[in-house]
Amino acid sequence: MCGIVGYVGQRQALPLLVEGLKRLEYRGYDSAGVAMMEQNRLSITKSAGRISVLEQQLDVDGSTATTGIAHTRWATHGAPTEINAHPHGDASHRIALVHNGIIENYTALKKYLQQKEVPFVSDTDTEVLAQLIGHLYRGNLEEAVREALRDVHGTFGIAVVCADEPGTIVAARRGSPLLIGVGQDEYLVASDASAILAHTSQVVYLSDNEMAVISADSLHTTTLDAVPVTKEIQEVEWTLDQIELAGHTHFMEKEIFEQPEALRNCMRGRVDLAEGKVHLGGFADVARELTRARRFIMTACGTAWHAGLVGEYLLEDLGRIPTEVEYASEFRYRNPVIEYGTVTVAISQSGETADTLAALGEARQRGALALGVVNVVGSSIARETDAGIYLHVGPEIGVASTKAFTGQVAVLAMIAAFVGRRKHLSQSATQEFLEALSQIPDRMEKALENNAKAKAIAEAYADRDNWLYLGRGYQYPVALEGALKLKEISYIHAEGLPAAEMKHGPIALISDGMPVVVIATQGLQYNKIISNIEEVRARGGRVIAIATEGDSQIANLASDVLYVPDTLEPLQPMLTVIPLQLIAYHAAIARGCNVDKPRNLAKSVTVE
Ligand code: GLU
Repeated sequence: MCGIVGYVGQRQALPLLVEGLKRLEYRGYDSAGVAMMEQNRLSITKSAGRISVLEQQLDVDGSTATTGIAHTRWATHGAPTEINAHPHGDASHRIALVHNGIIENYTALKKYLQQKEVPFVSDTDTEVLAQLIGHLYRGNLEEAVREALRDVHGTFGIAVVCADEPGTIVAARRGSPLLIGVGQDEYLVASDASAILAHTSQVVYLSDNEMAVISADSLHTTTLDAVPVTKEIQEVEWTLDQIELAGHTHFMEKEIFEQPEALRNCMRGRVDLAEGKVHLGGFADVARELTRARRFIMTACGTAWHAGLVGEYLLEDLGRIPTEVEYASEFRYRNPVIEYGTVTVAISQSGETADTLAALGEARQRGALALGVVNVVGSSIARETDAGIYLHVGPEIGVASTKAFTGQVAVLAMIAAFVGRRKHLSQSATQEFLEALSQIPDRMEKALENNAKAKAIAEAYADRDNWLYLGRGYQYPVALEGALKLKEISYIHAEGLPAAEMKHGPIALISDGMPVVVIATQGLQYNKIISNIEEVRARGGRVIAIATEGDSQIANLASDVLYVPDTLEPLQPMLTVIPLQLIAYHAAIARGCNVDKPRNLAKSVTVE
């Protein structure tokens, strides 16, 4: 998920690697490390926290090594500690490996190696691969890597060195990006061109299931099955400045557009279409308790609270379990009733949200089973729950949450299917639901095609100081989320409502030309929401509708329409929120606001 950089050539490698790591910092990370090769001596240095901490432990200018690999880690398996940081080594201390991605079958591989008495030091999935390569090494690193990767399920971008073969790096990829930088008597390897662009703009992009062996004067590329492949050298088009945002102007924009890939990562290895099952490793020990649960309480703040609201509907629909959603800050100071069989779910991107953490503690103390849905591995909430599911959507840097929201909804959908299947959902009904869920990333790509139109709409209404967002059923939380996005980054006052509530007061606000965003996708309450649109129109409001592709009626009623692909109603929020994110993003730009660092807000709210 995070960053790799490696160097082999004539120059001092360490300063170059440290600089490369700094270039990767923008992606967010929790720990870092390097493995340097001085003649036949391999030395690994790593640390939790910032690259500057790692730097203090290194003699950057004094190192004479001309080969090395380096990594910034964004933990998926095991807390972000020094021991879990990469590079990871094998038992003989000859091999060092850096890895981006997830080794899905690491438990089975670890068991196999432990039977062979291979000792493990970290909690990571990555160490298993390093140990496996070491275990298979018979004097040829390329062969050992190839053989090891044959047994690996999951995703990887890796760079590996071996003390017996100084001056060589073996790199391989499947599902995680990796490229080779081509220099003068030197080669570099990186997960992202930004890490090496200061040295060369000539690169070879590895494709999935390919590997490369590099030394100072040679680059040799093959498939993982040892078939030679000739790769074209390409020129990186971006400048250093641009690439830090991968061509995007803001992290928020980047993260909005990353959502299809983020959700693929979130669901990878979890959604089993053939069996009609959800595999949630984190719930293995609590599955029976979840099946017997009598009530779910979600606690969260802000965007995560909105995701929790979608989760409430999902759990009641699919799991048939009474569910409620509580603001963490209210829950912790009330005198909540926790009965036997209560499950609390704490939802937080950072896993550090102070109120959510405290609410979780309160519920746990009163006997509830405590679950976490968080993005940051090893965070406080992750540590203090009985069980949990990580989002795996990658680091979110923009303060206004986007991909974490859709990731949270996807995880809650998987939890609902997990519980539902154990209670009353048939295999075929679960299959149908999971089939639709697995199609969401592709449909998100289509929803993102609204970008230009969303921009035009945002610009047209950016001068209006009051907006309303309306939705019903599953779209009610999306209306809240759309309004929050707009408030957070453009400082426009916006209110989200269940559409039927409008008549109970807020309708008084509607005046001529007021933008009213109505989420009017096909579903149980479609006709009702059409009536709400009429009510807004009758009072001069300008309706911006989010509708299902193929809806021919809505364009006659709304001033503007943004279409999203159809899907099952419970899954629609992951699609309908996208145009709302885009509108908020473009409105903020039109108003000259700092999108990634909105005033008064922090990314992770660690105070109550
Ligand atoms: N799954 C690996 C770990 O948790 C790699 C994480 C990354 O891509 O940074 O250590």
